[in-house]
Amino acid sequence: MSTLTCDVAVVGGGLVGTALAYELVGLGADVVLVDRHHQGRATDAGAGILSPETTWNPDSGWFSFGMEAAAHYRTLIARLADDGFADTGYAQCGLLLAATEPGEDDWFATVAALALGRSPDTLSEVTPEEARALFPPLGRLRRVLHNPAAARVDGRIMNDALLGGAIGRGLRRREATVTGLQLSGARVVGIDSDAGAVSCAAVAVAGGAWSPMFGAQLGISIPVEPAKGQIIHMQLPAPDGPGATDGAADSGQWPIVSPVLHHYLVAWPGGRVACGGTYEPDALFDSRPTVAGMEELLSACLAIAPGLGPATVVDVRVGLRPVTSDGLPVLGPVPGWDNVHLVTGHGTEGLLLGPHSAALVAPCLLGSPVPEELRQFSMTRFPT
Ligand SMILES: Cc1cc2nc3c(=O)[nH]c(=O)nc-3n(C[C@H](O)[C@H](O)[C@H](O)COP(=O)(O)OP(=O)(O)OC[C@H]3O[C@@H](n4cnc5c(N)ncnc54)[C@H](O)[C@@H]3O)c2cc1C
Repeated sequence: MSTLTCDVAVVGGGLVGTALAYELVGLGADVVLVDRHHQGRATDAGAGILSPETTWNPDSGWFSFGMEAAAHYRTLIARLADDGFADTGYAQCGLLLAATEPGEDDWFATVAALALGRSPDTLSEVTPEEARALFPPLGRLRRVLHNPAAARVDGRIMNDALLGGAIGRGLRRREATVTGLQLSGARVVGIDSDAGAVSCAAVAVAGGAWSPMFGAQLGISIPVEPAKGQIIHMQLPAPDGPGATDGAADSGQWPIVSPVLHHYLVAWPGGRVACGGTYEPDALFDSRPTVAGMEELLSACLAIAPGLGPATVVDVRVGLRPVTSDGLPVLGPVPGWDNVHLVTGHGTEGLLLGPHSAALVAPCLLGSPVPEELRQFSMTRFPT
């Protein structure tokens, strides 16, 4: 097995690692991406909701970062189009934040007040009838906030586009498992994998829920754990077939539906609708779909949108979200090491935040100072 030599070795080829590789080659770096594509890769299962405007998170630092991440997508789409990758799975479709039951009224009022205070020129409350005109299968609604700026992204298609764009600029990729780091003093000088070694000047660990495996060698605890999520994809009947749903031919235009206390619905072109997601940290690395997960999702789906009853279940996806105890990602250098950076822990928001994180971390791997806005995500906030 041959040894490769490069400027930066990236461990992990989910959306975060692939976006990082894309940014690095864009900066002129020679990059090797090593990815095992483990079963349970979160990027393959993610619902793809990009709506920082309606987050319940009161933290202003998180909100600013989320809004920058949403803006970053718009420039990224344009860059990928210039690279010849117009199909990215990204679309601005809007989002309906809804209270569907009396018990949700207080929570809705809190989230709506926060969101309207932050984005008064973008968001507006709509009537239940207006909401059903936008998403016809919806059932009973109490109050609805409309965010026309929200977008959806298909993580698989976006990942493929980024990978294609990066390979077009010289990225080399290995399908392999990284088994360890090569250490020399306070530096990592390479990585070992089951397809050979890679010598490098810097390493990025973007291994999602699997990232902590490198902690022991680095003498730290990488504060990331898996949180299993299941999501069901449904197919509505053809517009002229039995059980056809009003307006299903236009499902690509339907907004995301996000009940404040329940599961969400994400519609895609061609009558496909995804309902997610379960949140099962106790399942650890078990990425099998379960009957209990299906029951939870299907009953939530029908409670929110009874009009989806005639749909057939066409896919069940399971992903392991890389979560941290405070819900924020872990970005930047590993303390005590000159040239190892973590880019992980994006949890429930990695499709939104991941590409923006990657764009900020990439210059640091090539020697630039860590920008101020990344400091809130340093792993030094956790005990080692
Ligand atoms: C059901 C569900 C719904 C979600 N919905 C949303 C949403 O609506 N909006 C949103 O923003 N986010 C959402 N997320 C979260 C989002 O999907 C994740 O945060 C994001 O995909 C994480 O990307 P990642 O690249 O860090 O990890 P992953 O996508 O898991 O990729 C990690 C990669 O690293 C590789 N790897 C790890 N260790 C090694 C090694 N030693 N050697 C080689 N390769 C290795 C793995 O094989 C894998 O390919 C959702 C997730 C789930 C599961």
